[in-house]
Amino acid sequence: MVKVLVINCGSSSLKYQLFNMEDESVMAKGLVERIGLEGSMLKHQPAGKDKVEISAEIPNHKVAIKVMLEALVHKEYGVIEDIKEISAVGHRVVHGGEKFSGSVIIDDKVMDVLKECINLAPLHNPPNIYGIEAVKEILPDVPMVGVFDTAFHQTIPEYAYIYGVPYELYQKYGVRRYGFHGTSHRYVSLRAAQFLGKPIENIKLVTLHLGNGSSISAVKYGKSVENSMGFTPLEGIPMGTRCGNVDPYIPVFIMEKEGVGLDKINDYLNKKCGVLGISGVSSDFRDIEQAAQEGNKRAKLALEVFTYQAKKYIGAYAAAMNGLDAVVFTGGIGENSSLVRKMVCENMDFLGIKIDENKNNVRGKETDISAEDARVRVLIIPTNEELMIARDTVALIK
Ligand code: AMP
Repeated sequence: MVKVLVINCGSSSLKYQLFNMEDESVMAKGLVERIGLEGSMLKHQPAGKDKVEISAEIPNHKVAIKVMLEALVHKEYGVIEDIKEISAVGHRVVHGGEKFSGSVIIDDKVMDVLKECINLAPLHNPPNIYGIEAVKEILPDVPMVGVFDTAFHQTIPEYAYIYGVPYELYQKYGVRRYGFHGTSHRYVSLRAAQFLGKPIENIKLVTLHLGNGSSISAVKYGKSVENSMGFTPLEGIPMGTRCGNVDPYIPVFIMEKEGVGLDKINDYLNKKCGVLGISGVSSDFRDIEQAAQEGNKRAKLALEVFTYQAKKYIGAYAAAMNGLDAVVFTGGIGENSSLVRKMVCENMDFLGIKIDENKNNVRGKETDISAEDARVRVLIIPTNEELMIARDTVALIK
Protein backbone atom coordinates (compact mmCIF):
# COMPACT_ATOMS: atom_id res chain seq x y z
CA MET A 1 0.00 0.00 0.00
CA VAL A 2 1.56 3.27 -1.11
CA LYS A 3 1.34 5.93 1.60
CA VAL A 4 2.43 9.41 0.70
CA LEU A 5 3.04 12.21 3.15
CA VAL A 6 2.49 15.70 1.75
CA ILE A 7 4.17 18.59 3.50
CA ASN A 8 3.68 22.33 3.08
CA CYS A 9 6.13 24.34 5.18
CA GLY A 10 5.57 28.02 5.84
CA SER A 11 7.80 30.29 7.90
CA SER A 12 6.12 29.41 11.19
CA SER A 13 3.72 26.65 10.20
CA LEU A 14 3.70 23.18 8.68
CA LYS A 15 0.65 21.58 7.09
CA TYR A 16 0.58 17.88 6.33
CA GLN A 17 -1.62 15.15 4.94
CA LEU A 18 -0.96 11.44 4.80
CA PHE A 19 -2.61 9.75 1.81
CA ASN A 20 -3.34 6.13 1.14
CA MET A 21 -2.80 6.22 -2.61
CA GLU A 22 -4.63 2.95 -3.22
CA ASP A 23 -7.85 4.91 -3.08
CA GLU A 24 -6.47 8.45 -2.58
CA SER A 25 -8.04 8.65 0.86
CA VAL A 26 -6.65 10.94 3.57
CA MET A 27 -5.46 8.89 6.55
CA ALA A 28 -4.61 11.92 8.68
CA LYS A 29 -3.99 15.61 8.28
CA GLY A 30 -2.89 18.41 10.48
CA LEU A 31 -1.04 21.58 11.17
CA VAL A 32 1.91 22.58 13.31
CA GLU A 33 1.46 26.21 14.34
CA ARG A 34 3.77 28.86 15.77
CA ILE A 35 7.04 27.09 14.97
CA GLY A 36 9.84 28.99 16.71
CA LEU A 37 7.33 31.07 18.68
CA GLU A 38 5.73 30.81 22.07
CA GLY A 39 2.60 28.67 22.25
CA SER A 40 3.51 26.27 19.45
CA MET A 41 1.22 23.31 18.97
CA LEU A 42 0.17 20.45 16.72
CA LYS A 43 -3.41 20.05 15.56
CA HIS A 44 -3.82 16.51 14.30
CA GLN A 45 -6.89 15.02 12.66
CA PRO A 46 -6.79 11.26 12.14
CA ALA A 47 -9.48 10.01 9.73
CA GLY A 48 -12.51 8.70 11.60
CA LYS A 49 -11.18 9.70 15.02
CA ASP A 50 -11.35 12.81 17.17
CA LYS A 51 -9.07 15.73 16.48
CA VAL A 52 -6.24 16.19 18.97
CA GLU A 53 -4.31 19.31 19.93
CA ILE A 54 -0.88 18.85 21.42
CA SER A 55 1.09 21.75 22.91
CA ALA A 56 4.85 21.31 22.70
CA GLU A 57 7.98 23.34 22.42
CA ILE A 58 8.67 23.42 18.69
CA PRO A 59 11.68 25.65 18.07
CA ASN A 60 12.25 24.72 14.42
CA HIS A 61 10.96 22.74 11.42
CA LYS A 62 12.95 19.64 12.30
CA VAL A 63 11.20 19.36 15.65
CA ALA A 64 7.89 20.12 13.92
CA ILE A 65 8.42 17.14 11.62
CA LYS A 66 9.38 14.89 14.55
CA VAL A 67 6.24 15.91 16.45
CA MET A 68 4.11 15.27 13.36
CA LEU A 69 5.67 11.81 12.80
CA GLU A 70 5.12 10.92 16.47
CA ALA A 71 1.45 11.79 16.05
CA LEU A 72 1.19 9.65 12.91
CA VAL A 73 2.45 6.55 14.76
CA HIS A 74 0.84 7.31 18.15
CA LYS A 75 -0.96 4.39 19.82
CA GLU A 76 -4.24 6.27 20.30
CA TYR A 77 -4.50 8.81 17.55
CA GLY A 78 -1.91 7.53 15.10
CA VAL A 79 -2.83 6.00 11.74
CA ILE A 80 0.26 3.90 10.97
CA GLU A 81 2.37 1.61 13.12
CA ASP A 82 5.80 2.57 11.89
CA ILE A 83 7.17 5.57 9.99
CA LYS A 84 8.73 3.02 7.62
CA GLU A 85 5.25 2.63 6.15
CA ILE A 86 5.64 6.07 4.52
CA SER A 87 6.62 5.33 0.91
CA ALA A 88 7.48 8.88 -0.13
CA VAL A 89 7.19 12.53 0.86
CA GLY A 90 5.89 15.25 -1.47
CA HIS A 91 6.85 18.83 -0.68
CA ARG A 92 5.11 21.95 -1.84
CA VAL A 93 7.73 24.42 -3.05
CA VAL A 94 6.66 27.96 -3.88
CA HIS A 95 9.25 29.10 -6.40
CA GLY A 96 11.02 26.93 -8.92
CA GLY A 97 12.10 29.82 -11.15
CA GLU A 98 12.60 28.81 -14.77
CA LYS A 99 14.36 25.59 -13.82
CA PHE A 100 11.33 23.41 -13.14
CA SER A 101 8.41 22.99 -15.50
CA GLY A 102 7.17 19.94 -13.64
CA SER A 103 7.59 18.10 -10.37
CA VAL A 104 10.95 16.43 -9.64
CA ILE A 105 12.59 13.88 -7.39
CA ILE A 106 14.64 15.89 -4.90
CA ASP A 107 18.37 15.20 -5.03
CA ASP A 108 21.45 17.30 -4.25
CA LYS A 109 21.34 19.02 -7.64
CA VAL A 110 17.70 20.01 -7.13
CA MET A 111 18.57 21.33 -3.66
CA ASP A 112 21.26 23.57 -5.20
CA VAL A 113 18.76 25.01 -7.66
CA LEU A 114 16.20 25.55 -4.89
CA LYS A 115 18.78 27.53 -2.98
CA GLU A 116 19.48 29.61 -6.10
CA CYS A 117 15.76 30.42 -6.23
CA ILE A 118 15.80 31.90 -2.72
CA ASN A 119 16.46 35.39 -4.06
CA LEU A 120 13.26 35.13 -6.12
CA ALA A 121 11.17 34.08 -3.09
CA PRO A 122 13.04 35.13 0.06
CA LEU A 123 9.98 34.67 2.27
CA HIS A 124 8.68 31.38 0.90
CA ASN A 125 11.52 29.18 -0.33
CA PRO A 126 13.65 29.07 2.87
CA PRO A 127 10.96 27.33 5.00
CA ASN A 128 10.29 24.91 2.11
CA ILE A 129 14.01 24.08 2.11
CA TYR A 130 14.11 23.64 5.94
CA GLY A 131 11.26 21.17 5.62
CA ILE A 132 13.04 19.15 2.94
CA GLU A 133 16.32 19.12 4.88
CA ALA A 134 14.59 18.03 8.07
CA VAL A 135 12.76 15.15 6.36
CA LYS A 136 16.02 14.08 4.72
CA GLU A 137 17.68 13.89 8.14
CA ILE A 138 14.86 12.03 9.85
CA LEU A 139 13.81 9.76 6.95
CA PRO A 140 17.04 9.46 4.92
CA ASP A 141 15.86 6.52 2.81
CA VAL A 142 12.47 7.86 1.83
CA PRO A 143 12.28 9.43 -1.65
CA MET A 144 11.13 13.03 -1.77
CA VAL A 145 9.44 14.95 -4.56
CA GLY A 146 9.24 18.72 -5.03
CA VAL A 147 6.05 20.17 -6.53
CA PHE A 148 6.33 23.81 -7.51
CA ASP A 149 3.70 26.55 -7.51
CA THR A 150 5.38 28.08 -10.54
CA ALA A 151 5.87 24.92 -12.64
CA PHE A 152 2.45 24.78 -14.33
CA HIS A 153 2.95 28.34 -15.57
CA GLN A 154 6.20 27.63 -17.38
CA THR A 155 4.15 27.33 -20.58
CA ILE A 156 3.23 31.04 -20.45
CA PRO A 157 4.62 32.47 -23.71
CA GLU A 158 7.52 34.91 -23.67
CA TYR A 159 5.43 37.84 -24.91
CA ALA A 160 3.15 37.33 -21.91
CA TYR A 161 5.85 36.98 -19.26
CA ILE A 162 8.20 39.78 -20.27
CA TYR A 163 7.60 43.12 -18.52
CA GLY A 164 8.20 46.55 -20.01
CA VAL A 165 11.53 47.02 -18.26
CA PRO A 166 15.07 46.63 -19.69
CA TYR A 167 15.54 43.08 -20.97
CA GLU A 168 18.87 42.96 -19.11
CA LEU A 169 16.93 42.75 -15.82
CA TYR A 170 15.41 39.50 -17.05
CA GLN A 171 18.82 38.20 -18.10
CA LYS A 172 20.61 39.29 -14.92
CA TYR A 173 18.00 38.66 -12.23
CA GLY A 174 15.18 36.71 -13.81
CA VAL A 175 12.75 39.65 -13.66
CA ARG A 176 9.70 38.24 -15.48
CA ARG A 177 6.20 37.01 -14.74
CA TYR A 178 6.25 33.51 -13.19
CA GLY A 179 2.69 32.98 -11.94
CA PHE A 180 1.73 31.10 -8.76
CA HIS A 181 -0.89 28.70 -7.35
CA GLY A 182 0.06 26.47 -10.29
CA THR A 183 -0.78 23.22 -8.52
CA SER A 184 -4.29 24.48 -7.78
CA HIS A 185 -4.89 25.81 -11.31
CA ARG A 186 -3.66 22.49 -12.74
CA TYR A 187 -5.87 20.44 -10.42
CA VAL A 188 -9.07 22.39 -11.08
CA SER A 189 -8.42 22.48 -14.84
CA LEU A 190 -8.14 18.70 -14.95
CA ARG A 191 -11.25 18.28 -12.80
CA ALA A 192 -13.16 20.81 -14.91
CA ALA A 193 -12.38 18.87 -18.09
CA GLN A 194 -13.55 15.65 -16.42
CA PHE A 195 -16.65 17.37 -15.11
CA LEU A 196 -17.49 18.70 -18.58
CA GLY A 197 -16.71 15.33 -20.14
CA LYS A 198 -14.36 16.93 -22.66
CA PRO A 199 -10.65 16.34 -23.37
CA ILE A 200 -8.64 19.09 -21.70
CA GLU A 201 -6.75 19.49 -25.00
CA ASN A 202 -9.95 20.87 -26.55
CA ILE A 203 -11.06 23.47 -24.02
CA LYS A 204 -10.25 27.00 -22.97
CA LEU A 205 -10.65 27.82 -19.28
CA VAL A 206 -10.29 30.76 -16.97
CA THR A 207 -9.59 29.46 -13.47
CA LEU A 208 -10.04 31.81 -10.52
CA HIS A 209 -8.24 30.76 -7.35
CA LEU A 210 -9.70 33.24 -4.86
CA GLY A 211 -8.48 32.93 -1.29
CA ASN A 212 -6.25 34.87 1.07
CA GLY A 213 -3.98 35.05 -1.95
CA SER A 214 -5.82 35.20 -5.26
CA SER A 215 -4.68 34.46 -8.77
CA ILE A 216 -6.43 33.95 -12.07
CA SER A 217 -5.18 31.80 -14.93
CA ALA A 218 -5.91 31.32 -18.59
CA VAL A 219 -5.61 27.60 -19.32
CA LYS A 220 -5.73 26.89 -23.04
CA TYR A 221 -5.89 23.26 -24.14
CA GLY A 222 -4.53 22.14 -20.74
CA LYS A 223 -1.61 24.56 -20.64
CA SER A 224 -1.31 27.72 -18.59
CA VAL A 225 -0.87 30.69 -20.92
CA GLU A 226 -1.42 33.49 -18.39
CA ASN A 227 -1.52 34.04 -14.64
CA SER A 228 -2.40 37.25 -12.86
CA MET A 229 0.40 36.89 -10.32
CA GLY A 230 3.77 37.88 -11.64
CA PHE A 231 7.38 38.17 -10.56
CA THR A 232 6.01 37.72 -7.03
CA PRO A 233 2.57 36.78 -5.65
CA LEU A 234 1.88 40.50 -5.15
CA GLU A 235 0.64 41.22 -8.67
CA GLY A 236 -2.92 40.76 -9.90
CA ILE A 237 -6.23 41.51 -8.24
CA PRO A 238 -6.20 43.09 -4.76
CA MET A 239 -6.15 40.26 -2.19
CA GLY A 240 -6.81 39.85 1.55
CA THR A 241 -3.88 42.07 2.48
CA ARG A 242 -1.82 42.32 -0.75
CA CYS A 243 -2.22 45.31 -3.02
CA GLY A 244 -2.32 43.59 -6.40
CA ASN A 245 -1.82 45.81 -9.44
CA VAL A 246 -1.02 49.44 -8.64
CA ASP A 247 0.60 52.21 -10.62
CA PRO A 248 4.31 51.38 -10.21
CA TYR A 249 4.89 54.90 -8.89
CA ILE A 250 2.59 54.35 -5.89
CA PRO A 251 5.13 52.44 -3.74
CA VAL A 252 7.64 55.27 -4.26
CA PHE A 253 4.95 57.80 -3.32
CA ILE A 254 4.02 55.83 -0.15
CA MET A 255 7.68 55.70 0.85
CA GLU A 256 7.99 59.48 0.49
CA LYS A 257 4.71 60.56 2.03
CA GLU A 258 4.24 57.95 4.75
CA GLY A 259 7.89 57.61 5.72
CA VAL A 260 7.87 53.89 4.94
CA GLY A 261 11.50 52.82 4.46
CA LEU A 262 12.93 50.50 1.84
CA ASP A 263 12.98 47.75 4.48
CA LYS A 264 9.25 48.17 5.21
CA ILE A 265 7.65 48.77 1.83
CA ASN A 266 7.43 45.10 0.86
CA ASP A 267 5.74 44.31 4.15
CA TYR A 268 3.37 47.28 3.68
CA LEU A 269 2.32 46.16 0.19
CA ASN A 270 1.92 42.54 1.33
CA LYS A 271 0.18 43.03 4.67
CA LYS A 272 -1.57 46.38 4.89
CA CYS A 273 -3.27 46.65 1.53
CA GLY A 274 -5.85 44.70 -0.47
CA VAL A 275 -9.41 44.45 0.80
CA LEU A 276 -8.15 44.99 4.36
CA GLY A 277 -6.69 48.35 3.36
CA ILE A 278 -9.72 49.38 1.30
CA SER A 279 -12.36 48.31 3.83
CA GLY A 280 -10.49 49.02 7.06
CA VAL A 281 -12.57 46.10 8.38
CA SER A 282 -10.78 42.81 7.78
CA SER A 283 -8.93 40.71 5.24
CA ASP A 284 -11.52 37.97 5.62
CA PHE A 285 -14.37 38.04 3.11
CA ARG A 286 -16.86 36.71 5.67
CA ASP A 287 -16.30 39.85 7.79
CA ILE A 288 -16.32 42.11 4.75
CA GLU A 289 -19.57 40.67 3.40
CA GLN A 290 -21.21 41.04 6.78
CA ALA A 291 -20.00 44.63 7.23
CA ALA A 292 -21.19 45.49 3.70
CA GLN A 293 -24.59 44.02 4.48
CA GLU A 294 -24.76 46.17 7.60
CA GLY A 295 -24.16 49.25 5.49
CA ASN A 296 -20.41 49.75 5.79
CA LYS A 297 -19.56 51.67 2.58
CA ARG A 298 -15.87 50.86 2.48
CA ALA A 299 -16.57 47.14 2.94
CA LYS A 300 -19.02 47.31 0.03
CA LEU A 301 -16.42 49.18 -2.01
CA ALA A 302 -13.78 46.52 -1.23
CA LEU A 303 -16.12 43.86 -2.60
CA GLU A 304 -16.79 45.93 -5.71
CA VAL A 305 -13.10 46.58 -6.37
CA PHE A 306 -12.19 42.92 -5.89
CA THR A 307 -14.93 41.50 -8.09
CA TYR A 308 -14.54 44.17 -10.79
CA GLN A 309 -10.83 43.39 -11.16
CA ALA A 310 -11.55 39.64 -11.31
CA LYS A 311 -14.19 40.27 -13.99
CA LYS A 312 -11.69 42.24 -16.09
CA TYR A 313 -9.23 39.34 -16.03
CA ILE A 314 -11.89 36.99 -17.40
CA GLY A 315 -12.44 39.36 -20.33
CA ALA A 316 -8.72 39.82 -20.88
CA TYR A 317 -8.02 36.10 -20.81
CA ALA A 318 -10.93 35.28 -23.14
CA ALA A 319 -9.24 37.69 -25.55
CA ALA A 320 -5.80 36.15 -24.93
CA MET A 321 -7.17 32.66 -25.75
CA ASN A 322 -9.56 33.78 -28.49
CA GLY A 323 -12.40 31.97 -26.77
CA LEU A 324 -13.72 30.60 -23.54
CA ASP A 325 -15.50 27.35 -22.67
CA ALA A 326 -15.70 27.55 -18.90
CA VAL A 327 -14.93 29.71 -15.89
CA VAL A 328 -13.85 27.86 -12.75
CA PHE A 329 -14.09 29.22 -9.20
CA THR A 330 -11.90 27.74 -6.46
CA GLY A 331 -10.10 28.70 -3.21
CA GLY A 332 -11.71 29.71 0.09
CA ILE A 333 -13.63 32.60 -1.46
CA GLY A 334 -14.26 31.06 -4.88
CA GLU A 335 -15.68 27.89 -3.33
CA ASN A 336 -17.71 29.53 -0.57
CA SER A 337 -18.85 33.00 -1.50
CA SER A 338 -21.95 33.03 -3.68
CA LEU A 339 -21.94 36.84 -3.47
CA VAL A 340 -18.43 37.15 -4.94
CA ARG A 341 -19.26 34.67 -7.73
CA LYS A 342 -22.45 36.57 -8.52
CA MET A 343 -20.70 39.95 -8.60
CA VAL A 344 -17.87 38.63 -10.81
CA CYS A 345 -20.26 37.01 -13.28
CA GLU A 346 -22.98 39.65 -13.57
CA ASN A 347 -23.24 41.62 -16.80
CA MET A 348 -21.02 39.18 -18.64
CA ASP A 349 -23.73 37.73 -20.89
CA PHE A 350 -22.13 39.31 -23.97
CA LEU A 351 -19.34 36.77 -23.39
CA GLY A 352 -21.80 33.94 -22.83
CA ILE A 353 -21.44 33.97 -19.03
CA LYS A 354 -24.69 33.80 -17.11
CA ILE A 355 -25.19 32.12 -13.77
CA ASP A 356 -28.31 30.64 -12.22
CA GLU A 357 -28.83 32.30 -8.82
CA ASN A 358 -30.37 29.19 -7.30
CA LYS A 359 -27.57 26.94 -8.46
CA ASN A 360 -25.07 29.52 -7.21
CA ASN A 361 -26.46 29.24 -3.72
CA VAL A 362 -24.01 26.51 -2.68
CA ARG A 363 -20.74 26.16 -0.84
CA GLY A 364 -17.71 23.99 -1.40
CA LYS A 365 -19.36 21.59 -3.81
CA GLU A 366 -18.22 20.55 -7.28
CA THR A 367 -21.03 21.87 -9.41
CA ASP A 368 -22.12 23.78 -12.51
CA ILE A 369 -23.81 27.07 -11.61
CA SER A 370 -24.40 28.43 -15.10
CA ALA A 371 -27.85 29.15 -16.50
CA GLU A 372 -29.30 26.58 -18.92
CA ASP A 373 -28.88 28.86 -21.93
CA ALA A 374 -25.36 30.12 -21.09
CA ARG A 375 -22.69 29.53 -23.77
CA VAL A 376 -19.90 29.41 -21.19
CA ARG A 377 -20.10 26.99 -18.25
CA VAL A 378 -19.39 28.41 -14.80
CA LEU A 379 -18.13 25.77 -12.38
CA ILE A 380 -17.21 25.55 -8.72
CA ILE A 381 -14.37 23.06 -8.24
CA PRO A 382 -12.97 22.75 -4.72
CA THR A 383 -9.21 22.69 -5.06
CA ASN A 384 -7.00 19.93 -3.70
CA GLU A 385 -3.35 20.88 -4.02
CA GLU A 386 -2.28 18.19 -1.55
CA LEU A 387 -3.80 15.40 -3.62
CA MET A 388 -2.13 16.78 -6.75
CA ILE A 389 1.22 16.75 -4.90
CA ALA A 390 0.60 13.17 -3.70
CA ARG A 391 -0.27 12.06 -7.27
CA ASP A 392 2.87 13.66 -8.70
CA THR A 393 4.91 12.02 -5.96
CA VAL A 394 3.56 8.55 -6.76
CA ALA A 395 4.05 9.08 -10.50
CA LEU A 396 7.69 10.03 -9.99
CA ILE A 397 8.69 7.36 -7.48
CA LYS A 398 7.28 4.69 -9.75
P1 AMP B 1 -7.90 30.19 1.36
O1 AMP B 1 -6.71 31.10 1.38
O2 AMP B 1 -8.13 29.58 0.02
O3 AMP B 1 -7.90 29.21 2.48
O4 AMP B 1 -9.18 31.14 1.61
C1 AMP B 1 -9.42 31.73 2.86
C2 AMP B 1 -10.43 32.84 2.71
O5 AMP B 1 -11.66 32.36 2.15
C3 AMP B 1 -10.86 33.47 4.02
O6 AMP B 1 -9.96 34.43 4.48
C4 AMP B 1 -12.18 34.09 3.63
O7 AMP B 1 -11.90 35.38 3.10
C5 AMP B 1 -12.70 33.22 2.52
N1 AMP B 1 -13.90 32.47 2.94
C6 AMP B 1 -13.95 31.28 3.56
N2 AMP B 1 -15.23 30.91 3.78
C7 AMP B 1 -16.01 31.89 3.29
C8 AMP B 1 -17.43 32.11 3.19
N3 AMP B 1 -18.32 31.24 3.67
N4 AMP B 1 -17.85 33.26 2.60
C9 AMP B 1 -16.97 34.14 2.13
N5 AMP B 1 -15.64 33.99 2.17
C10 AMP B 1 -15.16 32.89 2.73
